[in-house]
Amino acid sequence: MSQWVFPLPKVKVLEETPNSVTLQLEGVDRSYANAVRRFCISEVPSMAIDDVVILENSSVLYDEILAHRLGMVPIRTDLERYVLPEKCDCGSPLGCHKCRVLFVLDAKGKDKVSTVYSGDLVSEDREIRPVSETIPVVKLATGQSVKLEAYARLGRGKEHAKWQPCTVAVLTDGKGEGTYNLMVESAGGLPARQIVLQAIRLLEEKLKEIQVSVAGGAE
Ligand SMILES: [Zn+2]
Repeated sequence: MSQWVFPLPKVKVLEETPNSVTLQLEGVDRSYANAVRRFCISEVPSMAIDDVVILENSSVLYDEILAHRLGMVPIRTDLERYVLPEKCDCGSPLGCHKCRVLFVLDAKGKDKVSTVYSGDLVSEDREIRPVSETIPVVKLATGQSVKLEAYARLGRGKEHAKWQPCTVAVLTDGKGEGTYNLMVESAGGLPARQIVLQAIRLLEEKLKEIQVSVAGGAE
């Protein structure tokens, strides 16, 4: 059995802000660097509301539109404590405390038209909450109300855009040969640097899987 060794890129931080990072990848070819970029967009999991149980909705928005709007609210993500539902050992379609987070929304229209914001969602996990509290969800007139339970879970951008952890991922040529700069802007759920490091880790795992299956097939 021949041994393949994949070169791990040398990674250097060129620029970092709270929401974005520019990294220099060195010692790799363009296809590898581009695969890292694509993994940032479609493979690194992030948290989003997926399932909404509407208990009461007398607002002007249809239930489906309300659920869709909640799905697009960026949610803080913790990849240490949560796993993808398909990888969770609970095996339950309802999920458990390791693979889903419950949010409750209970809002009533006051004496004039009021706006329900993302910050009105109450999470059962204090750390897993909307990135911003000021995203408008629905407007309520006097007497109107919305009462619902929403379940967030980890998912990947390749399933649906709401699970993309970054808003921008751009690859440009660096200064030296085999040097590329990758700029990633986070949607807010995960630090930008963590998105890239996760992407590299997941890509390495996938390359190892391919290596094993190729080696296995050759025997
Ligand atoms: Zn579970």
